[in-house]
Amino acid sequence: MSDARDELGRIIGSLRGKLELERGFGSDSVVKGRMVDTPRDENKDDRVRKLAVLEEGASTCMKCRLSEGRTRAVFGTGNPHAELLFIGEGPGYEEDKQGLPFVGRAGQLLTKIIEAIDLTREDVYIANMVKCRPPENRTPRQDEIFTCTSNYLKYQIEWIRPKIICGLGNAAVQSLLNPTKGIGTLRGRFHDYNGIKFMPTFHPAYLLRSPGEKGKCWQDVKKIRAMLDELNAQ
Ligand code: SF4
Repeated sequence: MSDARDELGRIIGSLRGKLELERGFGSDSVVKGRMVDTPRDENKDDRVRKLAVLEEGASTCMKCRLSEGRTRAVFGTGNPHAELLFIGEGPGYEEDKQGLPFVGRAGQLLTKIIEAIDLTREDVYIANMVKCRPPENRTPRQDEIFTCTSNYLKYQIEWIRPKIICGLGNAAVQSLLNPTKGIGTLRGRFHDYNGIKFMPTFHPAYLLRSPGEKGKCWQDVKKIRAMLDELNAQ
């Protein structure tokens, strides 16, 4: 009974977060499911400044309990004008120390994945659902994800406005896309996220544990490459 209650709570929490994120885009930036330019986008350099201000806020944020154990908040890094945005779960040990996302072994694998589709880390933007490392690398809780994404990731997505989001692993994919289905069901095809094409795939840390799944991830990122080429040819 308590398992069922926990599961229900998890789904409700995730749906709340998803709805809040969607609401956060505002009626001025989402029209019939498509992102549209707003006056805020007229000056593209403005997004660099806004992201820097937001990052400053995250560095001292105490909005949730994850602030208690962090060394450094890991806001995200990369090209503020990126066409492709990777979203993972949260910082690990190395990321917490360095203040940068995906710098451990999983990060090295992500770099290889990015380079395999003829991009560099400087071309893309990399962020996480939560900006502070959960204790013992546990999965972030729904209230932590809700608090962090509605204060930070929501704005990163809105301001960067990528053409494609690649969700890495269950926490990111279920929170942003569908709390009731697993990555194994959702990966391999594009979904719609507020008018942005969203490709779920396995988290690089999972691929390190299950190298036999790397082929599926490769199929997913090849589709991202093909979609980027198609969108840029239009
Ligand atoms: S995880 Fe996010 S909301 Fe929580 S303290 Fe860190 S920056 Fe703030």
